[in-house]
Amino acid sequence: MLHLKMYINGEWVDAQSGKTREIVNPASGEVIALAAEGDVEDARHAIQVARQAFDSGEWAELPAAERARYLFAIADKLEARAEEIARLETLDNGKPLRESRFDVADAAGCFRYYAGLVTKPDGQTYHVADPVQAMVVREPVGVCGLIVPWNYPLLMAVWKIAPALAAGNTIVFKPSEVTPVTARTLFEIIEEVGIPKGVANMVMGPGPTVGHELAASHLVDKISFTGGTATGRSIMTAAAGNIKKISLELGGKSPNIVFADADFDTAVDYALFGIFANQGQVCSAGSRLLLEESIHDRFVERLVERAKQIRVGAGDDPETEMGPLVSQAHMEKVLRYIELGKAEGARLVCGGNRLAANGLDKGYFVEPTIFVDTTPDMRIVQEEIFGPVLAVQKFTDEEDAIRLANNTVYGLAGGVFTQDGAKAMRVIKKLRAGITWINCYHPTYNEAPWGGYKQSGIGRGLGTFGFDEFTEVKQININLQVQPIGWFAK
Ligand code: NDP
Repeated sequence: MLHLKMYINGEWVDAQSGKTREIVNPASGEVIALAAEGDVEDARHAIQVARQAFDSGEWAELPAAERARYLFAIADKLEARAEEIARLETLDNGKPLRESRFDVADAAGCFRYYAGLVTKPDGQTYHVADPVQAMVVREPVGVCGLIVPWNYPLLMAVWKIAPALAAGNTIVFKPSEVTPVTARTLFEIIEEVGIPKGVANMVMGPGPTVGHELAASHLVDKISFTGGTATGRSIMTAAAGNIKKISLELGGKSPNIVFADADFDTAVDYALFGIFANQGQVCSAGSRLLLEESIHDRFVERLVERAKQIRVGAGDDPETEMGPLVSQAHMEKVLRYIELGKAEGARLVCGGNRLAANGLDKGYFVEPTIFVDTTPDMRIVQEEIFGPVLAVQKFTDEEDAIRLANNTVYGLAGGVFTQDGAKAMRVIKKLRAGITWINCYHPTYNEAPWGGYKQSGIGRGLGTFGFDEFTEVKQININLQVQPIGWFAK
């Protein structure tokens, strides 16, 4: 049994109340860890520590190359412990090992990307009307509260921690209560590489108390959150008190559009990958498949045939292609949506059930599920289910595809499959979404910005845009002819 403590001011500490929370393996229902269950007091302590650390200037004023050296060292250590961390991620989150291994490699790459970026040219200079040299420099925002969900516990942590530290901020990080295990390992590594005490802190505890305190505290300058749209809305409200800078990466109901002239096998393959990777618990999942009328039946037939072959099982079984959902509560939510889809009149053509055979009854396994004959107003078409549930929609032509694609409150991602390059670009340019793919779905790069339009969020993670979110821009004007301005009479 693992005992997970919080990391505050360079010390591993229990919750002040002494409370703990049981962490469960979603493949077996077994308790695998006891995690400190912090509350508002613990969050306040961590925030004060991070405030002092930031105000001391110790981290922000280090030469960028020095900060980079720490981040490169973290990347090396993540790689050295990659297999151990991947196994812990699978134990805690349930995802198949091959996905956890990918996440750890990507996390190391993210630290390297920001370690490299921080020493590169930065700022701007301007040729202005006066004998003045005008310029801008970037500075850290200050104390950053970082709140992440349970679907990519390590990777989401790193997407925020790496740019925040690279830019010279101090941080208070909160993992999801459901999946805190790999965050412990990451902070062990942060400790080992010698990041100064107080710069990087981790608190654990419920979102509505600990997370809310990070969003509401006037000692925190910036909040960066990934999670559900409803939570994002409450964070925005809490953050208004001190006009905190906010970055929100929220939900989606992303359209994956397949035209009749698409490469059929490629489109089928990516349609499966788009919705069933990580059990569909992906903010950018291609959870709405838009099929051109003329290929609809043939495509669905092949898709169902392939979906039925997906091997569902425990993530640590090398045969497994799809694991359990993250928790019992989440599984129940997904099953409720499946019932809702049936009640709304959509036709279930694949899956739809919890899996119980071969010992799966102890875990939270749900079959790959596909609905057809949906209508745009159905809740299973409009709402984020965050599970292995695909809603298929039919379209008549390009205009119809675009109209349906944009017809939700979300705008995170979208894909188009066609062999007509001009058509692909026309459609992509009309999609109100921040992340798009042509003839593929899901690839994500540390170099490229990640985030959404509409109610899918504010700001961007990753790339230079993601770095900018953790900086303030300061204008500096240097007078080159130092003499009185003479504006007022003497
Ligand atoms: P949440 O958005 O509630 O959780 C994400 C993180 O926010 C967790 O660390 C959570 O803490 C924290 N949190 C919760 N409430 C608050 C609050 N009031 N103030 C500050 N922080 C808070 O996701 P859920 O786990 O509840 O999932 C609900 C739905 O959200 C999912 O079904 C899915 O549709 C969507 N979702 C989207 C994600 C995405 O990547 N876009 C990721 C996860 C969920 P705690 O651990 O205590 O819950």
